[in-house]
Amino acid sequence: MNVSAHIEAVHAQVRRRDPGEAEFHQAVTEVLSSLTPALERHPEYVETGIVERLCEPERQLAFRVPWVDDHGDVRVNRGFRIEFSSALGPYKGGLRFHPSVNLGIVKFLGFEQIFKNALTGMSIGGGKGGADFDPRGRSDGEVMRFCQSFMTELHRHVGERTDVPAGDIGVGAREIGYLFGQYKRITNRFEAGVLTGKPVAWGGSHARTEATGYGTVYFAQEMLATRGHDFEGRRVVVSGSGNVALYAIEKVHALGGLVVACSDSSGYIVDEDGIDLELLKEIKEVRRARLSAYAEAKPTARFSARGTVYDLRCDIALPCATQNELGREDAVALIKNGVLAVAEGANMPCTPEAVQLFHEAGVLFGPGKAANAGGVATSALEMQQNAARDQWAFEETESRLAAVMRNVHAQCRQTAEEYSGTPDDYVLGSNIAGFLRVADAMSAQGIV
Ligand code: NDP
Repeated sequence: MNVSAHIEAVHAQVRRRDPGEAEFHQAVTEVLSSLTPALERHPEYVETGIVERLCEPERQLAFRVPWVDDHGDVRVNRGFRIEFSSALGPYKGGLRFHPSVNLGIVKFLGFEQIFKNALTGMSIGGGKGGADFDPRGRSDGEVMRFCQSFMTELHRHVGERTDVPAGDIGVGAREIGYLFGQYKRITNRFEAGVLTGKPVAWGGSHARTEATGYGTVYFAQEMLATRGHDFEGRRVVVSGSGNVALYAIEKVHALGGLVVACSDSSGYIVDEDGIDLELLKEIKEVRRARLSAYAEAKPTARFSARGTVYDLRCDIALPCATQNELGREDAVALIKNGVLAVAEGANMPCTPEAVQLFHEAGVLFGPGKAANAGGVATSALEMQQNAARDQWAFEETESRLAAVMRNVHAQCRQTAEEYSGTPDDYVLGSNIAGFLRVADAMSAQGIV
């Protein structure tokens, strides 16, 4: 069978077997469309069904999560954990609590995670999980009861050598704390390495909170450097105002850039003085309020419930909110306004049409599986520290994160150059580099 026919057959099988899982199909299409040159050099991967096996999770779990709200009413949510690939190590990937979560979304995230984790060069497989629970507007007691119920089922499937979840949208330090507490209570083990993203005071790693946002900016910095640019004096827009966005803003400011806008699901703010990070953190992390509160507190800022941050003139855009938030029209506006680089802090925030437009316009584009790999890389560093019962200083951990991001960037470029002659094709480079590492391990481990 020729390679294109093989890829199309796998593709058709995914569409037939997993109908309605739009985001999963999108993620599979994105990866498979890069793999032809790699499979032509490695026909043995076609013969041993590597791509077909990679598109089918090793295990997928869906479970009931019953809990009682503050009014005494019973609520029922659906929980998921997709254990996608353990070729390189224990399944590793976050938990997302958001009302939009369904099987297709968790599978897309788990699939992406396989290649991202491979790119870090660390010993971690790919997985992802979550629930269609919305923590927004819920009391701490409700969030705690939900997390306890979620972990009551999940604890059977996770462990420091099996599957190690972390945070994602809607799962921050508070949720990780409640999840860990319930795991410890049920198992009677202080197994620090079962979850990452823990507070620094009890088993967490310095720089994990900052890692995804910082890492995305490091990646963007590396891309810019290939054309003789840096962040100094640059106008930057960021979407989202959660964990990834906050620390992307912090690092851009540290490097001399100015972030003039960010968003949440209610709209966006523009502050030409540069986003005041302390105020933003207070509003989003302490008060857990809507972004409009920022404009109410700061006279130089304005809030808009319509449009997106991409309508604004900027040199660099960092989408850090959620999947498919930057579409064709946004890409057209960014290109028209002269954007130099787009780096994905979120997972798959740019639609395929937008990515294609960036490619055609020569805009530097860093796909999430490379640009936001700093979060999971630092989670792997947290696992190393837990295994050694050790904790490294912030500077030590951050310098390792920076080294990982430089290495991810270099791998993407070298692989893209080798397989397509175009080093700027970070999509192709990240997909092939991640794939080859996993495929080599799968080949060595036999048909499992
Ligand atoms: P948070 O929950 O901390 O923040 C998410 C932000 O995105 C919030 O500002 C939220 O707004 C906004 N948002 C969420 N859903 C939507 C939506 N449907 N439309 C518009 N805005 C939305 O999550 P994180 O910062 O952790 O994650 C952001 C992205 O980064 C996700 O794609 C995640 O998968 C990815 N990522 C995260 C990593 C991590 O370490 N945390 C690692 C690698 C990738 P609102 O408050 O209004 O809901």
